[in-house]
Amino acid sequence: MAEIHKLYDFDYKTGKIKLKNRKCPRCGGVMGFHKEPVARWYCGACGYTEFSTAEK
Ligand SMILES: [Zn+2]
Repeated sequence: MAEIHKLYDFDYKTGKIKLKNRKCPRCGGVMGFHKEPVARWYCGACGYTEFSTAEK
């Protein structure tokens, strides 16, 4: 359970779970979300980048 709380942030106001971090499909490392210059997920371990289409 503690592991999940590191990756997800539960918003009690809206009752929604926000994704804090996601795991890299290439190396399994934790990816960080960057908004600029374009919305994307970036893995600091291997440099894998996944562009987000859901968020602007
Ligand atoms: Zn990676």
